[in-house]
Amino acid sequence: MKNNNKWLLTSLMTALVSQGALANVSVIHAGTLLANPAGEPLKAQTLVIEDGKISQIRSGFIAAESFGDNVVYIDLKNRFVMPGLMDMHVHLQGEIGPKNDSEKLRMSDADVAMQSAYFAKKTLLAGFTTVRDLGAKPEQIYALRDGINKGWIDGPRIIASGGVSVTGGHGDVDGMSPDLLDKLTTKTICDGPYDCRRATRRAIKFGADVIKITSTGGVLSDTNTGTGQQMADDEIKEIVDTAHALGRRVASHAHATEGINAALRAGVDSIEHGSYADKESIKLFKKNNAFLVPTLLAGDTVVNMANNADFMSEAIKAKAKRVGGDMMDNFARAYKAGVKIAYGTDSGVSAHGINAREAVLMHQAGMSNKDILISATINGAELIDMSDSLGSLEVGKYADIIATDISPLEDISALLDVGFVMKNGQVYKQ
Ligand SMILES: [Zn+2]
Repeated sequence: MKNNNKWLLTSLMTALVSQGALANVSVIHAGTLLANPAGEPLKAQTLVIEDGKISQIRSGFIAAESFGDNVVYIDLKNRFVMPGLMDMHVHLQGEIGPKNDSEKLRMSDADVAMQSAYFAKKTLLAGFTTVRDLGAKPEQIYALRDGINKGWIDGPRIIASGGVSVTGGHGDVDGMSPDLLDKLTTKTICDGPYDCRRATRRAIKFGADVIKITSTGGVLSDTNTGTGQQMADDEIKEIVDTAHALGRRVASHAHATEGINAALRAGVDSIEHGSYADKESIKLFKKNNAFLVPTLLAGDTVVNMANNADFMSEAIKAKAKRVGGDMMDNFARAYKAGVKIAYGTDSGVSAHGINAREAVLMHQAGMSNKDILISATINGAELIDMSDSLGSLEVGKYADIIATDISPLEDISALLDVGFVMKNGQVYKQ
């Protein structure tokens, strides 16, 4: 019996060691490597990945065998290699479409969770290795985030928000019978500063990585209340102070000028959409070191839907055409004025997996390809306070790596066709 146990232990250890050696070291030969999108690409580089992190970057193609037996060799000699893309504004729990109303009634929470796992995988395979989810049923998005982190499900690294909104504002439930509205109103809907302090603490208690607020109305809420400021100054200030005190950042959805400026004055870390930023907003962005997350793809999508589909109410259609149509010019002004931009699509308004179309729209609005890549890597990492582990390929950082056939510095639409995806050193697409 004793001997049997000893044999079992020895063979178990052998199995663990050989599996570990197999899985833990990968060597990539990169034809062109843009390790840091703020710098210049280099030809013929070797990347060594151990335990999910980058352990070496060396010039030339160094033979994989020289890094040990059982290393996994990945040949990207004819590819353009760069850090995984980061989308700072997605909604993994759904996609806007004509069936949304019936789905709300028919789909169980478990159904929604399964669907969001499917959308998460699509997003990862499109080359987006990190996303910030800014609006979802909280318990489900936290479970998805945690399940992905544990390796149960394939998906991007998720920074998950808890939403705090005011009664009747964008972010509250709308467009249903009164008893359903009552039933579905979340516990983080608040009114007045003290109540909003409670709601913020509650969101963090239940697992929010970041707090999402809605300082103005939104295009897709069916309430006929416009896109002006909806949260009072004292409510926004209280939420921001409470979140910051508990180590969480705050993202504010905002369209109208006064709502953008109120949120920036209160100290939010990013403005989502920022459709009508004015000169004062631009000053405040710079003063606070805050990011604009433009979501041009959402604007483009809702204008198309308003013009070509018939499932939106008249109130939504009118907002979509006006705000969606103005987003490109407003973004171009903010970019030219030097506002820091973090890449974000609002996917879920658009379909999941086409997140790279945002890059094409940013390019059309006049942003340089290099700045677009920076917005989708380095700036995203800074916005979520993970610059020490994400955003560029450096020794010690996570091996979140993608590759394209042609250089996105030359043609930004190369991002629409990402052929290789690695996250945490694990290959998901090759
Ligand atoms: Zn959104």
